[in-house]
Amino acid sequence: MDCPHCHSSSTTEREGRTVHGFRCFHCRDCGRRFNERTGTALNRVRVPTDIVFLVVFWRLRHKLRSCL
Ligand SMILES: [Zn+2]
Repeated sequence: MDCPHCHSSSTTEREGRTVHGFRCFHCRDCGRRFNERTGTALNRVRVPTDIVFLVVFWRLRHKLRSCL
């Protein structure tokens, strides 16, 4: 996985995972640590990604049904 900070490809996967189960990485070029969700729009969301998409899916489905 490329570093979201310096876009280097020389990263190593670290042992262990985040609270939500995302894999952790370390960049050998800039020395920063990041996980699979760092740099994405969902980075600060405190719920897992699949729950977010489930909520968005059901809200969209409910809205579409109420428009008919
Ligand atoms: Zn980096």
